[in-house]
Amino acid sequence: MTALDESRVMALRAQFPQLSRRVHGKPLVYFDNANTAQKPQSVIDAVSGYYRECNGNVARAVHTLGSEATELYEGARDAITRLLNAPSRDQIVLTSGTTQAINLVAYSFLAPRLVAGDEILVSHMEHHANIVPWQLIAERAGARVIAAPINEAGELLLDELAALISPRTRLIGITHVSNALGTINPVAEVVALAKARGVPVLVDGSQAVPHLAVDVTALDCDFYVFTGHKLFGPTGTGALYARREHLAAMPPFFGGGEMIRTVSFTGSTFADPPHRFEAGTPNIAGFIGLAEAIRFVESIGINAIAERERVLRDAALERFAGVEGFRLIGQARQRAPVFSFVIDGVHAHDVATLLDFEGVAVRSGHHCAHPLMQFYGVPATARVSLAFYNTIEELDVFVTALERVRARLR
Ligand code: PLP
Repeated sequence: MTALDESRVMALRAQFPQLSRRVHGKPLVYFDNANTAQKPQSVIDAVSGYYRECNGNVARAVHTLGSEATELYEGARDAITRLLNAPSRDQIVLTSGTTQAINLVAYSFLAPRLVAGDEILVSHMEHHANIVPWQLIAERAGARVIAAPINEAGELLLDELAALISPRTRLIGITHVSNALGTINPVAEVVALAKARGVPVLVDGSQAVPHLAVDVTALDCDFYVFTGHKLFGPTGTGALYARREHLAAMPPFFGGGEMIRTVSFTGSTFADPPHRFEAGTPNIAGFIGLAEAIRFVESIGINAIAERERVLRDAALERFAGVEGFRLIGQARQRAPVFSFVIDGVHAHDVATLLDFEGVAVRSGHHCAHPLMQFYGVPATARVSLAFYNTIEELDVFVTALERVRARLR
């Protein structure tokens, strides 16, 4: 592992065109990476290169453009297999993102098994994408979604989660890293607990893959999902990893071209997984870009990224502690560089709007985590979310900008 020292970080930063733009006349400080990450030039080139050089549809054309496009597109499946250390590329379904992947599991895997009185267990810190699809199928079946509690620090209460697993629990949905708090959940322990009771687990890795090495083979989870745009890739890309036996048992969710074996008016037969779940023309350019994004991460090394981000995380916590009126929401011991905060007496949207005038991009709102906001008794928070390309100097700019915002609002 080559450490990411300042000069390497600056060289890598230079590969992200947007990081050198100005906003309101100030150099952009991009602290909204959990929302979507910036894209390196190699990803932008891969996307435009497809349209420039080999635009053709995948999996159906035998001509040169079609085969070149198919090879590049399928390269994304290989890259994702490596990223997650999945046992086989056939266990990777390409989706438009986490949301589609979870809905696929909900409607194809879980809905057919769900009966009245069943339970789906999630944690109190889930993104709506890991709550609402379960609610929709639960409602139809007369089942219900229940939430495992967290403590004030924003950590999952593992014993309480274990106590909530019952003979009616049909699935556990748990985020690997909280998008609102940065908490890194003990997903291996959750999987072990669930496995002992025969309950399948879906891990939402949307906020994990940009920060941590993920190994679904070691984790032994049933499903792992993530979204590509938070991993320096294009929007509209993502994946579902699933155990082979689950995919084999799952009926199609979307019907259409490319997911069939035979079609007649008396009925159709379907392709094997993963193609059974990939109806229609996909986001070809996007996946070619995602393959490149994963190669980009591999060229740096996810462990070097994680090490760099630990330094940034600790520097951020140190600086936040010195800002008057700054209340950090969630103080988990195991955390990614994602921080929700409120400034006493000021609405989060005002904080984010005024920070934007200082060139600093942070997110404000409920972060698609209403239940979590209710838990902390706040309507919204502002959120700083860092990537490896952020710098200590940017943290200082942020703190100075925040002091100015506070002074203006006093
Ligand atoms: N889960 C988590 C933890 C997220 O942070 C997000 C995005 O913010 C999602 C799910 C949804 O991802 P997407 O909208 O790309 O499907």
